[in-house]
Amino acid sequence: MKIICIGRNYADHAKELKNDLPTEPLFFLKPDSAVLPGNNPLYIPEWTNDLHHEVEVIVKINRLGKYIDEAHAHKYYDHIGLGLDFTARDIQQECKAKGLPWEKAKAFDGSAVITKKFIPLAELGGDVQQIDFHLEKNGETVQRGTTSDMIFNVNKLISYVSQYMTLKIGDCLFTGTPAGVGQVKIGDELKGFIGERQMFRTLIK
Ligand code: MG
Repeated sequence: MKIICIGRNYADHAKELKNDLPTEPLFFLKPDSAVLPGNNPLYIPEWTNDLHHEVEVIVKINRLGKYIDEAHAHKYYDHIGLGLDFTARDIQQECKAKGLPWEKAKAFDGSAVITKKFIPLAELGGDVQQIDFHLEKNGETVQRGTTSDMIFNVNKLISYVSQYMTLKIGDCLFTGTPAGVGQVKIGDELKGFIGERQMFRTLIK
């Protein structure tokens, strides 16, 4: 199983990090060892001083595919989840400044929170581009998004990524984060919601 993450897919988030809007999708990978198991807390790695939360809608791939036509991409998923793309922002900025890959900042153990349960898309109304989601930190909403605001929609992302790598059953596509990313500290409690439905709860230690 691989985790494919899309960067800068919400204009308001690209702006808050002072990035240009992408003209084509930007993606990177996390290994399966990045998945934070079960309800385990995330221990902030000792090598970062600026760990950020990024809440993202996750699309689970349910068919094997390569060179998927955008018009057929909807056949490759039918369950939706929510997750966190934990990012060591200080390390990422260093990597970006040097033109180096981001893996140290993005792919470390525990950096991917993935909901245990995925919801059938049909239960959410059937339209992957009409999903409201938000993240609460210590009871306060810090990020709120709707998938209708994506720069590149899910079908486009699937089609694009599948030109470069085969998508396999069980792969998770993190579809990008809206504005409001911010630092987490020891003792924080993060809760992710799709609509009013709580999807995960993660403690920071
Ligand atoms: Mg992200």
